[in-house]
Amino acid sequence: MFSKILIANRGEIACRVIRTARRLGIRTVAVHSDADAAALHVAMADEAYAIGPAPAAESYLRGDLVLEAAKRAGAEAIHPGYGFLSENASFADACAEADIVFIGPPPDAIRAMGGKSEAKALMERAGVPLVPGYHGDDSSASLLAKEAERIGFPVLIKASAGGGGKGMRVVEDSGAFQSALDGARREAKAAFGDERVLIEKYLARPRHVEVQIFADRSGEAVYLFERDCSIQRRHQKVIEEAPAPDLPADLRAAMGEAAVAAAKAIGYEGAGTVEFLLDEDRRFYFMEMNTRLQVEHPVTEFITGLDLVEWQLIVAAGGNLPLRQEELSIDGHAIEARIYAEDADRGFLPSTGTLRRLDFPQAGPHVRIDAGVRAGDTISVNYDPMIAKLIVWDRDRAAAVRRLEAALTEVRVAGVASNVDFLRRIATHPAFRGADLDTRFIDRHGDGLKPSRSGADDAVLATAALFVLLDRKSAAEKASRRSADPWSPWNRADGWRLNDEGRADITLRDEDGRHVVPVRYRRDGGYRLSLPRGEMPVEGALESDGALTAVLDGVRKRVVVDRSGDMLTLFMEGGACVLHLVDAVQAADREGGEGRLAAPMPGKIVAVLVAEGQAVRKGEALVVLEAMKMEHTVAAPADGTVARLPFGVGDQVEEGADLVGFEASEGGEA
Ligand code: ADP
Repeated sequence: MFSKILIANRGEIACRVIRTARRLGIRTVAVHSDADAAALHVAMADEAYAIGPAPAAESYLRGDLVLEAAKRAGAEAIHPGYGFLSENASFADACAEADIVFIGPPPDAIRAMGGKSEAKALMERAGVPLVPGYHGDDSSASLLAKEAERIGFPVLIKASAGGGGKGMRVVEDSGAFQSALDGARREAKAAFGDERVLIEKYLARPRHVEVQIFADRSGEAVYLFERDCSIQRRHQKVIEEAPAPDLPADLRAAMGEAAVAAAKAIGYEGAGTVEFLLDEDRRFYFMEMNTRLQVEHPVTEFITGLDLVEWQLIVAAGGNLPLRQEELSIDGHAIEARIYAEDADRGFLPSTGTLRRLDFPQAGPHVRIDAGVRAGDTISVNYDPMIAKLIVWDRDRAAAVRRLEAALTEVRVAGVASNVDFLRRIATHPAFRGADLDTRFIDRHGDGLKPSRSGADDAVLATAALFVLLDRKSAAEKASRRSADPWSPWNRADGWRLNDEGRADITLRDEDGRHVVPVRYRRDGGYRLSLPRGEMPVEGALESDGALTAVLDGVRKRVVVDRSGDMLTLFMEGGACVLHLVDAVQAADREGGEGRLAAPMPGKIVAVLVAEGQAVRKGEALVVLEAMKMEHTVAAPADGTVARLPFGVGDQVEEGADLVGFEASEGGEA
């Protein structure tokens, strides 16, 4: 076994590999970009090397710098994690040349599965079933269009070098083909530097079922059962579980054996995943093979009781697989939820900023948290916006789903938008509970997964107002302790006023607009609020950990509230609510800014689809922005005219930049 390894990654996977290495008594070396100097993985490792500036292309993707660090540190092996260099065959070659073990398959196996098209051709020869499609070399637009006709719409265009759902487009009919092809190629080029695509029949209601395999140098290979990853948004996994619900034993064995055959066909070694689509008629089709550890591997670890990183290390060190197929079995059910810094209610737009608060449930035999960040860290545009993975286990699926729901209520994220409430809505959805899964689950149940927004109700407004009142009171008390005349009435914050009776208005703002809450100060230190549904007596106290004990109409509750400037995040029973405290002076200018077509995040303009002076209809695409390797289309908010286009293709824009000067036409609502 190795005595020292380098982890060529960051975030949760780097931390996760370090944990196993430490348990096995292996010393760990981290590498990091300048932006990550204080990151969790750096703090956890025994040793760390700075390898370059924040952009991954100049740091984590620089195989030469990673190798240099490994040599300096005297590491015998490199674990690439997932993403970055994990499926880079030239890097694996370079490791071999430098006499450092690449913890992954041989470079040729990576190459064989590297392109989706080549992999399909190979699997076809090995007799593994494929989805009908075109994965040939000729990629002229006219041929692809003809192939799409032949396959029959709807079809799916995929980046041949793809991953993470990038460069993927569903096309419903031939009219939409050309622009979808252009978009897919652009995204593929930006994300992978390779614009080749392939076309497949778009299956109506498939499940994504993937098989975890392991192979060693002696040629032995086993499958560690399957994961169902059908809960996806934008073709990216959000919730994964193992085993796949309701999979008959014979189908499990058939899929497992097909996966092992795929691995053997390419002389595989180490951990790998063979992804299949499983259709309603229980036919399964090869999609691709990922020649690395997957994000969702913890669910397999939970049901098999194994540590897959430990297995990777054993195999990479030349050892045999620790168990034979007949020694492997499934125990219970595990589910993983990926917690992302993204706004699920705004098209899953990644959210950046400082994690002001990050609470997780207690880890234990039923709950595992794989986090790569901690409170105070930033989520930046440079890297994947994943905050953590929450993994739960129980004896059967129903119990695991309940665990998931409960655990998610204990996750609190403030400072950036997160998908936690969205995950909770999935976990509690009857179709999810009933294991009625397919890859379009989120689209299909879209409405049922939206926040049940009755707007800010009385309880929310009362909680927010009470928090503001108590927060002011404690600030005033602190100030008066410092002031020269602690007994001055001007330092009192209990509503005492020279000329009125202890009244105030607290104004809060959310997406629905403004809410004015008139307050009367009671003599006993409590308050009486006037809310939309009536008067409510409230009182409470701020706890030292930032929580609020609120007594609303006699009912006592503990609510965690995070305040950042004028923004309040209330972690209520039904999910997080964000409200802004309106300062009367600033309010006027702030509201003037709405209706602008601003960049939702920093990025690059990749397409301008209209011209200045052009009349457009509501919803028409105007400009396409690429940010965090995904495209975001800016659409007309109403019928109107494009007045100005300050940016051109290739321009880099800051968050909040005005992308389009837009004038709504008479009568149009902007
Ligand atoms: P990536 O490598 O970008 O993750 P995959 O080929 O693994 O792309 O596909 C990602 C997801 O896209 C699948 O899990 C599935 O939901 C969907 N998908 C892929 N191919 C098809 C298809 N032919 N029909 C329907 N859905 C598909």
